[in-house]
Amino acid sequence: MPVIKASSLRDLKNRVNIHDVVVRTVALKKAGGARFKGLCPFHQEKTPSFHVSTDKGFYKCFGCGKAGDVISFVMETEGLQFTEAVEAIAQRFGVTLEYEVGSGGPSRETRSLRQEIFEIHDLAAEFYRQAFLARTPHGGFIRDYWTRNRKFTPELAEEFKIGFAPVEDTALATALLQRKFSPEALRQCGLFFLRDGAAPAPATLRPRFRGRLMIPIRDHQGRVVAFTARQLELTPADDPAREAKYTNSPETPIFTKSNLLFNLDRARANVGDGRPFVLVEGQLDALRCWSVGLKTAVAPQGTSITEGQLLLLRRYHPQVECFFDSDSAGQKAALRFLPMALKAGLEMSFLTLAGAEKMDPDLLFLEKGLAAYEEVRRGAMSAMEFACRSVLPNVADAGAELKARAATELFAILTQVESEVARMAFLNEIAQHLRVAASSLERDLRNFQSRQGGSRFATTPTPSAPSASIEGGKSIEEHLLYLCLHHDAVLRALGAQLPHEWIDQSLTAGRLLDRLLAEVAHNDWPGREQLDQLLETQEEKTLVAHLLFETPQEENLGKITDEGLRALQRRFYEPRLRQIELEIASKGTNGDSDLYSLLKQRAEITRQLQNPPKLPLAT
Ligand code: ZN
Repeated sequence: MPVIKASSLRDLKNRVNIHDVVVRTVALKKAGGARFKGLCPFHQEKTPSFHVSTDKGFYKCFGCGKAGDVISFVMETEGLQFTEAVEAIAQRFGVTLEYEVGSGGPSRETRSLRQEIFEIHDLAAEFYRQAFLARTPHGGFIRDYWTRNRKFTPELAEEFKIGFAPVEDTALATALLQRKFSPEALRQCGLFFLRDGAAPAPATLRPRFRGRLMIPIRDHQGRVVAFTARQLELTPADDPAREAKYTNSPETPIFTKSNLLFNLDRARANVGDGRPFVLVEGQLDALRCWSVGLKTAVAPQGTSITEGQLLLLRRYHPQVECFFDSDSAGQKAALRFLPMALKAGLEMSFLTLAGAEKMDPDLLFLEKGLAAYEEVRRGAMSAMEFACRSVLPNVADAGAELKARAATELFAILTQVESEVARMAFLNEIAQHLRVAASSLERDLRNFQSRQGGSRFATTPTPSAPSASIEGGKSIEEHLLYLCLHHDAVLRALGAQLPHEWIDQSLTAGRLLDRLLAEVAHNDWPGREQLDQLLETQEEKTLVAHLLFETPQEENLGKITDEGLRALQRRFYEPRLRQIELEIASKGTNGDSDLYSLLKQRAEITRQLQNPPKLPLAT
């Protein structure tokens, strides 16, 4: 097991600003002083309760209670083990790590399965790219397909590492086997079919993708996690997915379809004021947008859009323009996800080409370039206008019955809107489009709601409960630890006076308090910078992050600390005292030496309890 030197860890944490690490995943805004806040990556929310403190080097979410330091953040958000997370951060920020002698350094054995699968995808993407560029008949075919059929440039292929999966090939499997990836990683990476129980070998690893155009799918951090493969004339007849125009990687430890949007890694850097996300249907649409200079386009994997994807967008920017094919499938898909988008707090609009019967974003941009974007934006519809037109295309000819039915469909969307103000604005908009009185529409909405179960119609996502002990009843150890972390005077006084055996070592806070006080008592405590080295587990880091984010107690410091100390003392002595009394009672009145010693112990404990320790702190 490679062990990273403590000095290296300290160096890393000194050199890497937690803001710079978190901001890759969470859009952060200044929140005064050295604090930043953003939408929590660990639970669903619309108003930011995720705080990052750059001077303390910790983060904490006041919604779901997750907290920790830069290493735990990377562990949690990227699913890495401790050492992997440290190595990942070091690599990103150009920090050289030193390992304990004899511990080996980074080695294949210790890489997690996920890490291996990431690497396999990196190598596979390069392999497919080389096949795309190869001076072979198939290489020529695929480049021709790219430039003539799809009308993309070679430069775009290079930029997105577009590739080609050879028709019959064992080269990728052979190359990966030479790199000594674990059988488990090869089995689970999604690039091969492997019979159950068969050992991975060039002959047993059958490529999933053959004779297809390969589009690498990256996660929001830009790592290749999967592929979309486009069918070609070359796709062999025995491909199990021969008829599918597009086939995707299956879900793997690094790829969850519903949590990923194509091109989000690049688009998120380009969104901003006046530059909303543009949601298109397919990866090639997104590539087309990029090629004409529209750099904010993202695409779901396959047709259906999930709540997870919408929340992912919301994390970076609230405005989304939906630009789907004008065919009925595209429009239906858009109408289906609209309620979820509103629920996620996204401001949706729908791009259309005024007067156009059929519209295909790919063709439109190909013909007119970026100018087409301005054109479709002029014809943009608001979310409600789009919804109204979808459920009732011919409002002019519709009678009361049809309008009522349309209204009911629209109410189902409206109930997803959390803000009362926004809901009423939407209601007025619907009234206009349906050409009915807003007041009667509002009455119908109320009836609809009461039929739906009355109560509140907006379903608020419930963040998972904050870890119990922290927000509510703190243990005594936790409370003292909290005081120690905020007040050096308390720390020093307790270090000198709190008997080690009073601390409950079964508690995380207890172990940490004990370690901290021992450090203070035995060494010259240089202050909080040293705290980090004392934290041994993730649990401890989380706890410290929580406590550091609490507002420091300013009043009655001495009194409160003394109370804590006294509580520990009682908890320690009282059960002993009861035990002694039981024993005294069982001995009866026959005086013997045992009894004498018990009585002496009782007197001593009683005296101690009557004179609790007092710390030399101002009250
Ligand atoms: Zn949270």
